[in-house]
Amino acid sequence: MVQKVFRAGKAHFQCKECGFSYKDRIWAEKCEQYCKKYHSCSLEITKHSVS
Ligand SMILES: [Zn+2]
Repeated sequence: MVQKVFRAGKAHFQCKECGFSYKDRIWAEKCEQYCKKYHSCSLEITKHSVS
């Protein structure tokens, strides 16, 4: 389940599996599905993450 987190006053969505945060929930969900399935991250997905 993607977690909503607040960083510097902004809402981000965090993949529970790998800890990457995304501005858009859709990417966090994609990431989490990928992480669960393959037990690693997809570069195509994590490039949308926020640091
Ligand atoms: Zn992930």
